[in-house]
Amino acid sequence: MPKIYYCGKLFVTMNECVAISYILSSYISLTRTCCQECGFCNFFKAEDPLLEPDELVEELKHLSKNGATEVVFVAGENPSDLPHIMIQLAKFGYTSFAEYVNVAIKEALALNLIPVLEIGYLNSFTLERFYKSGCSIRANLVAANLNKEEQALENAKNRTPVNGKAFVEALHQNQIPYTLCFNIGIGETEEERINYIKELGVYCSSDPFLQDIRIIPFQPSSCCKMYDRPPLPFDSVAKVLETAREAFPVHHISVPANIFSRFPDLIEHGLNDLGSLPIFSGDILHPTFTVPNVETIKARLTNKNCHLYERGTLSTPAVLNRPECYNAVSFTRALIENRNSAIISLIDNDHCFVCGKKNPFGLNIPVKSFIKGNSVTFTWVPGPNHQSYAGIVHGGILATLLDEAMGYAVMGEKIDRRIVTLEYTLNYRHPTPVGLPLKVVATIGAQRHSVITARGTIIAPDGTVLVEASGKFYEIIKTINPQNNPVNKEESKNETKQSTD
Ligand code: SF4
Repeated sequence: MPKIYYCGKLFVTMNECVAISYILSSYISLTRTCCQECGFCNFFKAEDPLLEPDELVEELKHLSKNGATEVVFVAGENPSDLPHIMIQLAKFGYTSFAEYVNVAIKEALALNLIPVLEIGYLNSFTLERFYKSGCSIRANLVAANLNKEEQALENAKNRTPVNGKAFVEALHQNQIPYTLCFNIGIGETEEERINYIKELGVYCSSDPFLQDIRIIPFQPSSCCKMYDRPPLPFDSVAKVLETAREAFPVHHISVPANIFSRFPDLIEHGLNDLGSLPIFSGDILHPTFTVPNVETIKARLTNKNCHLYERGTLSTPAVLNRPECYNAVSFTRALIENRNSAIISLIDNDHCFVCGKKNPFGLNIPVKSFIKGNSVTFTWVPGPNHQSYAGIVHGGILATLLDEAMGYAVMGEKIDRRIVTLEYTLNYRHPTPVGLPLKVVATIGAQRHSVITARGTIIAPDGTVLVEASGKFYEIIKTINPQNNPVNKEESKNETKQSTD
């Protein structure tokens, strides 16, 4: 008998194609201050400040513009028990940490991002503050009492299986959508972890507020206390997956792809999801493990007879149609459908070699700010690291600059097209010397169906044309209703205001 699994959209058998989902997400750290000190955590820091409200809004706008559908607000547990956080909250005009978080939730929803909280164990009193706020909450659970000397939770007495279950009960009582996150391999026995997952399955697998399950196998890293504890072997993780699949037969069950690189082999053990992929921020909770992008994951799954698709954060009818998040859910749904229908995933996570401001090895040219309508003009000075022969700029770098400039001319000022380069031709007319300010100019040409042409030139300060290029670009998808994106709306309002002024 083939095993039958529910994969979010459809039932599949294991000898058929398996649907694997993921969420395009980002972390925002509100503060690393935490009153616990779990030995497996990279996040704990005693005196970290609170993120300034203005910076928070800027980060949210940036994420919304780049197409994230979810934002995970991360903080340590009860940070406001420490005086420096209380002082900062008062400075920002808040009376409590929950009030500050509620404002962050509202800002995220206004920008059509689904807010998720990962801020430690919360009691029922605190959870009441998030009732009908529109957020989801991650409940991080441990399967055993590990509070003895030198155990993982020696300094985190609050973290017990019983308190974890009470947290889940409080989430249910307050009708807050939640994710169960099982931290495994931190010192519990195999029996304890299996029994705890089974126990939670009986307890809440039919709870309409439970959205999905995350299995988080411990991975040692240099910045956590248990850096010398070995990770769980593959067979132990596979057994947990099988147990979770039986305990939660209809849920998305994920393992973070960055901290468990053998995730493709877990599919036959019940994995049907990769959960939140924080490709915009990286995994701030596991910074030493690079988050793979969607195209890399697709390549890893090539031989697994899988269909990889994007999904939204919320999945049960009990929470999907709530008024507090209705607009954000509708917007992200349309965005996801659009991206799922594209043949290639084109996501800007600020790591482009030419313009990505987070790419430490890139050219860091803010090309987007030089687009006017459908043309691009900017100046750039090549340095000695960009040469081929001594003092001569590498032809590949010049080709890259022109490809980028022409690409942005085609995408236009509103970046309302997602394109890829089909072909382009270069004419290197003169050698380009290192150290001179080069003017790069590109303009759009004709469009025929989904193919758009563009031309570009690189000009020396004395007006000599050094390189000419012409190219063809293919429009993969149109950005979904760019005028409906609140960030674009605000920008065009500002533009209108400026032109009226
Ligand atoms: S896991 Fe959470 S509660 Fe534990 S130290 Fe890290 S931030 Fe604090």
